[in-house]
Amino acid sequence: MTNQPFHIAIDGPVAAGKGTVSRLVADRLAFLYVDTGAMYRVTAWMSIHADIDLTDEAAVSALIEKTNIEMYNPKGDERDGRLTTVKVNGEDVSWQIRTEEIGRGASKVAVHPLVRKALVAKQQNIAKNQNIVMEGRDTTYAVLPDAQLKIYLTASDTVRAKRRHMQLLTKGTDVEFAQVYKDLLERDELDTNRKTDPLKIVPEAWVIDTSDLSIERVVEMIVAKVQVLLESSKKS
Ligand code: C5P
Repeated sequence: MTNQPFHIAIDGPVAAGKGTVSRLVADRLAFLYVDTGAMYRVTAWMSIHADIDLTDEAAVSALIEKTNIEMYNPKGDERDGRLTTVKVNGEDVSWQIRTEEIGRGASKVAVHPLVRKALVAKQQNIAKNQNIVMEGRDTTYAVLPDAQLKIYLTASDTVRAKRRHMQLLTKGTDVEFAQVYKDLLERDELDTNRKTDPLKIVPEAWVIDTSDLSIERVVEMIVAKVQVLLESSKKS
């Protein structure tokens, strides 16, 4: 490991493949994988369970301060297809936060500046002193503005909706394609138009459109790029 930790920040819209790609890149490079979306999902999940209105910024952000959120690469029995293990005050909620309802709730709590402030601070704390692949909507400019590699991963609306539909059917959730497509556009709309830390492409980002690329190919491209960057940092 170089003295300076190596940070890869990956942003992009819903179902662009960020989770799967980030997880595999992290495995290949032996970096930690952090899914920042899981933290917004946890926040929505906790608020719903505590009967807190998702529009109540003060109450939702106060809940985050009181909660211990753990995230790490799955180990032992936890290797059941999940990309990351998420615990809230010791309770494993890794699968419970993956529903469409919680996804929609996550986009609602994510509009609050106080919520973002609290979660960004936690994310920056995790990234301190370690090599990391972090993915979300604002990691390239709000969480890791100094990341050595910034990527914007995207795909066409139809490809993303098809992928998400397939994921839901595989998990046993019977849902119409038209509904998935509508939900996806609604979440894109919320994520790109909110005032605080919206989803955007920073000028220095490497934009990868995964519509016609296999996951393996995307992972290969990113790992190759990191190896070049690591080599050149050794020389300088
Ligand atoms: O990535 P995922 O779909 O799990 O994220 C759920 C929601 O959390 C997103 O639609 C977005 O509204 C919010 N989010 C965010 N900033 C991040 C990660 C996720 O606002 N860095």
